[in-house]
Amino acid sequence: MPDIAVVAVSASTVMFDREFSYLIPENLAGKVQRGMRVAVPFGKGNRKTVGMVLDVKPYVKSSIRLKSVISVHDESPVLNDEMLELCSWLRDNTFCTYYDAVRTMLPSGMNINIREHYSLTDKPGDSVSDSKKRRCLDTLTSAEDTDSAAEGLKAQGLGLVLESLVAEGYIEYELTGKQNVGDSTVRVAYVTDSYKADPDSFKLTAKQKALLDTIDENEDITVKEACYLSGVGVSVEKKLIEKGVIAEKDYEVFRRVDSFEEANKSVDDVVLTDEQQKVYDRAAEVSRKAHCFLLHGVTGSGKTSVFEKLIGRCLEIGRQAILLIPEISLTPQTVNRFRSLFGETVAVIHSSLSLGQRMDEYKRLKRGLAKIAVGTRSAVFAPLDNIGLIIVDEEGERSYKSDSAPRYSAIDVAKQRCRTHGAALMLASATPSIESYYYAQKGIYELLEMKNRYSGTQLPEVTIVDMGNERSEGNTTEFSRQLVEEINENLRRGEQTILLLNRRGYHTIISCADCRKPIYCPNCSIPMTYHKINDTLMCHYCGHSQPIGESCPECGSTRLMKMGFGTQKLEEQLGELFPTAKILRMDADTTMSRYAYEKGFNDFSKGRYDIMIGTQMIGKGLDFPDVTLVGIVTADKSLFSGDFRSYERTFSLITQVAGRSGRGGKKGRAYLQTFMPDHYVLNLAAQQDYRGFYREETAIRKALLFPPICDICAVGITSADEEKAQEMSAKIIGIIRELTQTVRDIPLRVLGPIKCSYGRINGKYRYRIIIKCKNTAKFRGFARQILERASKLGYKDVSLYLDMNGDIGV
Ligand code: ADP
Ligand code: ZN
Ligand code: ZN
Repeated sequence: MPDIAVVAVSASTVMFDREFSYLIPENLAGKVQRGMRVAVPFGKGNRKTVGMVLDVKPYVKSSIRLKSVISVHDESPVLNDEMLELCSWLRDNTFCTYYDAVRTMLPSGMNINIREHYSLTDKPGDSVSDSKKRRCLDTLTSAEDTDSAAEGLKAQGLGLVLESLVAEGYIEYELTGKQNVGDSTVRVAYVTDSYKADPDSFKLTAKQKALLDTIDENEDITVKEACYLSGVGVSVEKKLIEKGVIAEKDYEVFRRVDSFEEANKSVDDVVLTDEQQKVYDRAAEVSRKAHCFLLHGVTGSGKTSVFEKLIGRCLEIGRQAILLIPEISLTPQTVNRFRSLFGETVAVIHSSLSLGQRMDEYKRLKRGLAKIAVGTRSAVFAPLDNIGLIIVDEEGERSYKSDSAPRYSAIDVAKQRCRTHGAALMLASATPSIESYYYAQKGIYELLEMKNRYSGTQLPEVTIVDMGNERSEGNTTEFSRQLVEEINENLRRGEQTILLLNRRGYHTIISCADCRKPIYCPNCSIPMTYHKINDTLMCHYCGHSQPIGESCPECGSTRLMKMGFGTQKLEEQLGELFPTAKILRMDADTTMSRYAYEKGFNDFSKGRYDIMIGTQMIGKGLDFPDVTLVGIVTADKSLFSGDFRSYERTFSLITQVAGRSGRGGKKGRAYLQTFMPDHYVLNLAAQQDYRGFYREETAIRKALLFPPICDICAVGITSADEEKAQEMSAKIIGIIRELTQTVRDIPLRVLGPIKCSYGRINGKYRYRIIIKCKNTAKFRGFARQILERASKLGYKDVSLYLDMNGDIGV
């Protein structure tokens, strides 16, 4: 009897996702294994879809007629047992589909696109009389593009009819499954055994001999290189092949992320301070047992040096390591630092690599050529088989939580992998998330601390400047007199300054002077931002851009005003105040390429600029020893972003950006401008009093029931049709009410539905229900039931997602 493949199909949706069984036909017997991708027929129309084989089982008789696997697309498993288990774990914990999980684990260059090809055969179909079959044949006959015509027929529910026509020989059918990006190979030449056995029996010209010698001397030399080096044309190479002297083969190469440097330093040369050494010793002690540390180290305490040592030791004992860093810290400086210590064993994973590069880094890890994965969120899925250590730097960063399916937190995934591998997890930050610090207080994490800067200098002094005062004394600019004075002082001393402008709510918008309405994005309920550089309006949520236009779309008035204040405008004011200063602007809106960022940071660190001005992105992780002054133009708006984490984020941002100051030998200072000089969060941040802030914040979260005291599961409902989104929301509330009757022992608090603060993004209306809960297996089972029940409501163009402990502000 044939075996059965248990398959997760890519076509399923969150509301309807389960394992499907398929027969393994005789021609594929033995070729289908766990972790391979296959093509299978799916749904009523038997649409061909890609699926991941979760298991292969012996056949058991069942009443359901099983469909069969069509083809296999991998020669060997692309996911091992650990990763397959992690797929299930992700599905259970983040409410995604199996295949969503598969997709995030594999580099997107490996995605398979299934193409189906239909064409008419020579068999005359004139005698076919069945009306449906007739329709199919006629459609294909008159179609220019038979493939898309067939798609159309399938959409009309004629998939099975097409299949029978294929079976009867009227239509030819072919299925191809191509990977997005192929393996990169080059042709290399080598000397044949027959030549080696008896060289004298071959008569060669001088040119042929020259080429042969080059190939003989250089192992795996490419054909091109060999010809080039011996100064002969390719025709000579062809002759050698004809004569059987040499042969060619494909040789797989890796598309290099950048030029690999040999390691030129050794971790042994890194000398830790006493405080650093203590942290190292403690973390290096645990082995083969999952254990989670929280490293709370002040800005400039030298956390990176500790990471380097720990990773070095991890490799020494034959294990592998993952280092997660926030996008913005992933500069070539960081990468080069690790490369100079560990050379080619470092693989880099981040979104701005090309598909091909990412795939190759993935393969280097999978084959054990690289043993350290450095990268952003998705690097937590690095295909390593013996992980000893995972480090998460700046662990409170929001970018570690994905806000599209699978909506995972990289920290939770890291924990899960550490459990499986028996590895140590080190979460590190100067401003840990409230959640992490709470777990450390509870003894769930082990708290390690570094309270001193490596340089020995003290943390910068932060002065709060009352902008209300400035206004009442006639200063209408965004710069207080005190900050201006300090910047001048820094210019005189030849020291560098960083100015932070918090973006949130602080950008230039175009507003109508008559009806007072800003110009909104046509797809989103968000005012668009004006960009001077190309004189256009842009939406930061959906990417829509348009010219400003002459008149207000609401009332037709032509009196349009530029309102608000952006980094560009700040730069202009700055230029007027400090005409001789060299100013570098860094923000995500300037359509800067990654290269431009890197160049900017590089030039700044070489002292080619006096002042760097930017948004949040310059707030964390950067290390410029010559910066002695930091100005925070304002952080007021971010206190009220509407999310329960907005105090935490504001505190963290101020502490972190102030922490960019005085990292070298000289003491730094920072100025925090605000209209709320008495706000306790700003004051605690100015004192860089993390524990004080933690106490205040946990008290609030206890009182109002927010994480970490409880968990928050958001149910998101989105649709292009607002009425449907509302209807569905109301029905889901009903479902939740009903379900809570049956499961009394799950403590729940349900709020909503409400329209999200950005009620429409990318053309979709957004509603949300909040469930305050405890994230237990029982609750997750309950949540799955919501999805299952919702799927039966029969709403087609409304989508639904669940998000555990994500942001609920926008
Ligand atoms: P943070 O804890 O803020 O991440 P960094 O790791 O960036 O701090 O270190 C701050 C500065 O101190 C860097 O310039 C770093 O090179 C230097 N530093 C820290 N520890 C050491 C060490 N053990 N040996 C040499 N330099 C160090
Ligand atoms: Zn108007
Ligand atoms: Zn938009």
